[in-house]
Amino acid sequence: MSKFQIDLTLNAGQAIVSLEGVMDEDMVLEKVQGLNEETLIFDFDKVTSINSCGIRDWITFISSKATDSKIVYRKCPKVIIEQLNMVKGFLPEGAQIESFYAPFFCESCENEEMVLLSPNHIKGRKAPTNLPCSQCKTEGIEFDALESQYFHFLPEA
Ligand SMILES: [Zn+2]
Repeated sequence: MSKFQIDLTLNAGQAIVSLEGVMDEDMVLEKVQGLNEETLIFDFDKVTSINSCGIRDWITFISSKATDSKIVYRKCPKVIIEQLNMVKGFLPEGAQIESFYAPFFCESCENEEMVLLSPNHIKGRKAPTNLPCSQCKTEGIEFDALESQYFHFLPEA
């Protein structure tokens, strides 16, 4: 089995592209190269890592798609957030982030978890403070990274 996989679902003007595994020099995007649906949704949920070759190839690919289609990024894990924050062009102009993961910590039971958020949960790059722990249900788990850094890809205010 290849270390990088693509699962493609097509319906009515929309393509959902689920990416999985390692995005590096061996990443093959052939399967999605010809997509020209009105909306292209990229689901990064199962992406485990990305290196500089993967970043370069991805930017080449996504910038060619962004001219014809509306681009949506779904379920971005931390490794993708890092690129969104640091690499110009990783999110093409006009593209939208639908949801992403953020790290939280529960002081009551010491549970660490990645919580799926959408950009409208984040006001002025501040994490929500009222989320419940998925383990012990205590409300108010703490964001477990630097807000100004982690949420840099979102609007300042
Ligand atoms: Zn807890």
